[in-house]
Amino acid sequence: MERTLAIVKPDAVEKGFIGEIIKRYETNGLGIVGMKMLRLSREEAEGFYYVHRERPFFKSLVDFMSSGPVVVLALEGDGAIKKNRDLMGATDPAKAEPGTIRKLFAANIERNAVHGSDSKDSAAFEIAYFFNRLEMMR
Ligand code: ATP
Ligand code: MG
Repeated sequence: MERTLAIVKPDAVEKGFIGEIIKRYETNGLGIVGMKMLRLSREEAEGFYYVHRERPFFKSLVDFMSSGPVVVLALEGDGAIKKNRDLMGATDPAKAEPGTIRKLFAANIERNAVHGSDSKDSAAFEIAYFFNRLEMMR
């Protein structure tokens, strides 16, 4: 079993897609072991996306991620990191495969509906960023 962190981003929360997105995790072998709704401060969004701090889109990304509530989930399953990345689709929804979350629910490369950890190291960092022991169900 492997764990990964997913975020339903502010655009998808605002459009009312929380349920549709979570259903896709649950029906594709990704069990929920932690979940909460919160609003990131600018500082919290900067810390989460620290690896992207030198990228030209960083300020805009931080503005977007702190613009409204998000839902963060710790997901568990066989090959959970890759499974979630496959379910999400490409960063740019215009390039995402049909049926993926981003193809179905995302507007553009920045407002792209969901986040998913991209490696074991990032999953460990990201889960610990949002959840303490008492907030994890196993
Ligand atoms: P995430 O990390 O959110 O799961 P990702 O791994 O597919 O997405 P990254 O390259 O890690 O993509 O970029 C992080 C986020 O930064 C993207 O999800 C998107 O919201 C934003 N982003 C990435 N590239 C661009 C870009 N060229 N222009 C604007 N925003 C971008
Ligand atoms: Mg990424």
